[in-house]
Amino acid sequence: MSQQVQAVIAPGKNEPVRVETIVIPDPGPGEAVVKIQACGVCHTDLHYKQGGINDEFPFLLGHEAAGVVESVGEGVTDVAPGDFVILNWRAVCGQCRACLRGRPWYCFDTHNAKQRMTLLDGTELSPALGIGAFAEKTLVASGQCAKVDPEVAPEVAGLLGCGVMAGIGAAINTGQVGRGDSVAVIGCGGVGDAAVAGARLAGAAKIIAVDIDDRKLQTAKEMGATHTVNSRTTDPVEAIRALTGGNGADVVIEAVGRPETYQQAFYARDLAGTVVLVG
Ligand SMILES: [Zn+2]
Ligand SMILES: [Zn+2]
Repeated sequence: MSQQVQAVIAPGKNEPVRVETIVIPDPGPGEAVVKIQACGVCHTDLHYKQGGINDEFPFLLGHEAAGVVESVGEGVTDVAPGDFVILNWRAVCGQCRACLRGRPWYCFDTHNAKQRMTLLDGTELSPALGIGAFAEKTLVASGQCAKVDPEVAPEVAGLLGCGVMAGIGAAINTGQVGRGDSVAVIGCGGVGDAAVAGARLAGAAKIIAVDIDDRKLQTAKEMGATHTVNSRTTDPVEAIRALTGGNGADVVIEAVGRPETYQQAFYARDLAGTVVLVG
């Protein structure tokens, strides 16, 4: 039997979001219903509300979540009711040529739940990034569930689903930060802080955090930054160059998404270095 839960909906372009009752179908083959315990607030949800992603309103917002599997559909063997999971944007197929090469991030056949969640009047909802977790429960493809250690607090584990993977991935995978590298991270929100942590994990010798907010710079220090620059009062390009023997950083990670910080990132890198734009 389908069930009704409360959820946060973006009804139309730039309209205020509101809490509505939605209908969650029972999980079909390959699907799971997850009871959401925590969901981060990410800038992408705002983009959805503003119509910046696409026009498939109404959206069911939220995509950075952890929870407990409540029920699974036919044929689901990878997760079971009671499992503590974080949610991925898409389930990979495991069978296409990219998956078989061990590169599931290039999967040619990713999928989400086939059934749709709806409003009470039957209007179909578009779940943000195929998740829709600003809700008491959500319906996903079972492969979107990744089991994690249930000792971890849900509000921490959920962040792995978006901000943490974006930032750590920018440092370790895209930026290829190596041992002894100098790294500058411009913008120290959730993604930037995760990039700082990723640079530290990869063995960077110098990690320069740049932001306009001293509180965020303090957090970046706790995540592993060795130096901080407040770009409201100090030119970040000059500061990064001064801290890197005049050369610029080996890897500069931009996690703001503004033209002026893109420019700073390119000016602040070593000529033999790399810029990663993740903002
Ligand atoms: Zn996000
Ligand atoms: Zn695949």
